[in-house]
Amino acid sequence: MDAFQYFMPTKMFFGENCIVENWAAWRKLGKKALIMTGKHSAKANGSLEDVITALTKCNKTYVVFNEVEENPSLETVMKAADLGKEEKVDFLVAIGGGSPMDAAKSTSILIENPGMDPMDLYSENKTLSYLPLIAIPTTAGTGSEVTPYSILTLHAKETKASIKQRVFPDFAFLDAKYMMGLSPKVTANTAIDALSHLIESYMSTRSNFLSERLVESGLMIFRDCMDALQKQEYSLEIREKLLLTSSIGGMVISQTSTSLPHLLGYNLTYHKNIPHGRANGLVMKAYLELIPDQEKVTKMLSFMGLSSLQEMQAFFDAVLKSDEVFTDKELRQYAEFSGNDSYKLTSFPGKVTVDDLYQIYKKSLVVQ
Ligand code: NAP
Ligand code: FE
Repeated sequence: MDAFQYFMPTKMFFGENCIVENWAAWRKLGKKALIMTGKHSAKANGSLEDVITALTKCNKTYVVFNEVEENPSLETVMKAADLGKEEKVDFLVAIGGGSPMDAAKSTSILIENPGMDPMDLYSENKTLSYLPLIAIPTTAGTGSEVTPYSILTLHAKETKASIKQRVFPDFAFLDAKYMMGLSPKVTANTAIDALSHLIESYMSTRSNFLSERLVESGLMIFRDCMDALQKQEYSLEIREKLLLTSSIGGMVISQTSTSLPHLLGYNLTYHKNIPHGRANGLVMKAYLELIPDQEKVTKMLSFMGLSSLQEMQAFFDAVLKSDEVFTDKELRQYAEFSGNDSYKLTSFPGKVTVDDLYQIYKKSLVVQ
């Protein structure tokens, strides 16, 4: 067996009411929290209230920053960090989808390192300290609660990119009850993000024995949710399974990172506002067709109960219902841009050229 490493330092709590029931776990964290959320959902789904209950039980104070937008920008992170510094917070609680969780990771670095140039988040050569962080996912997709990645929109570079610093949350609280009101659209898009993490990790040159076994179990759990995703009927049990799929996806991309669908999907999100998971799903089949080891692709599909890529695409079509239109020029530009990301390109098990990237787009998307 090949040698490998596995690192996932986040302590995970899973189950209904896990935040309030495990409030004592928060005791050692600090005195004052910066709670980061999106505009509405954390208030509406009860997660913010549960966090405040837990904080109050252990005599901690807090300040709320509720301005994290979808695909959060560096500017938003800087604004949250200013509030955190002003309020002298000493730990963070992120509640929401990947956007608040990712934003909180970068914010925790900026607060702990006052005066740093925010662009240094993207420096390869620095290891910056950060404040403790609790992550509470309220979508089942990104797995950000157990990954060290913080993906921000960089308007100056017209794309999204993961900061170079790694920030694993200290604790992750997984309670699917917050997801019961999640719209069918966000549920589907985020579920496909979780699935793409599993698939991209499995096919990556960086996968290892343990990450592959985790993916296989994640795909089997996802299989139990495929019918519900097509019918848009979600029980608490299905929500829990989607959440587990998402966290397993997070654990495996923490080892391998993501691959070409994420690389290509970032352009679709930045330029066309296509939600992240959906963007990955749109290019998945053409990416899998390019993988040299088609036996591994077939094996991967079998864990989902599928026997061909056509069957997988039929499932994606039912769940994603694509209607976006692109120009050939746009697709060439996106492919050219993505061709610069050598880290993601080397995760592909074979040689991949800019033309290959363009062909993936062309096969996957409707061109005017
Ligand atoms: P999101 O952008 O965090 O949230 C999408 C929408 O869902 C928002 O409008 C949000 O509303 C709403 N929402 C969240 N939870 C809800 C709930 N329980 N009920 C009702 N509505 C709810 O979406 P996401 O797909 O989870 O995250 C996407 C981001 O994560 C992207 O920036 C992506 O690049 C990143 N990502 C990170 C990693 C990683 O490893 N760090 C991996 C993959 C993707 P509010 O704004 O009101 O909360
Ligand atoms: Fe993702």
